[in-house]
Amino acid sequence: MSAQIIDGKAISVDIKNEALEDAKILREKGVEPCLAVVLVGNNSASRVYVNNKKKACEYCNIKSLSYELPEDTTESELLELIDELNKSKNVNGILVQLPLPKQIDETKVILAISPDKDVDCFHPYNVGAVFTGGKGFKPCTPAGVIELIKRTGCDISGKNCVVIGRSNIVGKPAAMLLMAENGTVTICHSKTKNMAEICKNADIIVVATGKINTLTKDMVKEGAIIIDVGMNRNEEGKLCGDVDFENVKEVAGAITPVPGGVGPMTIAMLMKNCITAAKMQNGIE
Ligand code: NAP
Repeated sequence: MSAQIIDGKAISVDIKNEALEDAKILREKGVEPCLAVVLVGNNSASRVYVNNKKKACEYCNIKSLSYELPEDTTESELLELIDELNKSKNVNGILVQLPLPKQIDETKVILAISPDKDVDCFHPYNVGAVFTGGKGFKPCTPAGVIELIKRTGCDISGKNCVVIGRSNIVGKPAAMLLMAENGTVTICHSKTKNMAEICKNADIIVVATGKINTLTKDMVKEGAIIIDVGMNRNEEGKLCGDVDFENVKEVAGAITPVPGGVGPMTIAMLMKNCITAAKMQNGIE
């Protein structure tokens, strides 16, 4: 039996439509949700990401303010702009596209963004809230992983979950969010000794290593849900994930493809965070 292919693109459209509906309700209450997008320098990949985020805002009827600063922008100039955006009543979310030019300390910039406008969830306050289960924004990619699992009809509660990868932006927060859903979570990494055995016992496996074929068919239990966060280029230059998709789909119950799985979810969850920011700042439930 072949696995259900989880359509991340369609699910991301559903989430953006929900954000659009929420934006309409906010506007009826006199609140115009607004995201400030800051791009420093000429990194072409960053420009593509920023344009995609602006397009998503347009789709969701979220106003986007664009700040494109030159490559030689100083740290204090950028911090000054962030200070202004923090104080602006019209701005609900602030997104500074990383990486930044080398004269600017990224940590200082992340710390400067007001936690209640930190829709990327990079500020230690929000990162901490993911670990304590407190209120705050959820990091976009890991939150997207959870939505994909839930919208596939799976209740995470009590399930054996394995996360392969322990990065601060994907692996660790994904594990925390799975645990918040009452999953029983094991985290694997490059030093894990019996990974195949651990995975074979899992109902849900989230793979985020950046290494092609990290998860192969022999490591997967019949019917398991597989979420592939990886984004790699294979020898032919084709985009692919960390999972041996063609073979794993023969045993898995459901699996995300790459592209078209986790990828589109990140921006959709960012839109959701912008709506949450606008609601929180205006005391709307
Ligand atoms: P990262 O910071 O390089 O972390 C990779 C993690 O995988 C590390 O914890 C590493 O272990 C572990 N690892 C590497 N090789 C392994 C192996 N053979 N077996 C077990 N664990 C292994 O990467 P990341 O930022 O988390 O990103 C992971 C992937 O997700 C990348 O392909 C990235 O492009 C993709 N990504 C996608 C999105 C999206 O929107 N779809 C967003 C972010 C990232 P150690 O800690 O022991 O070194």
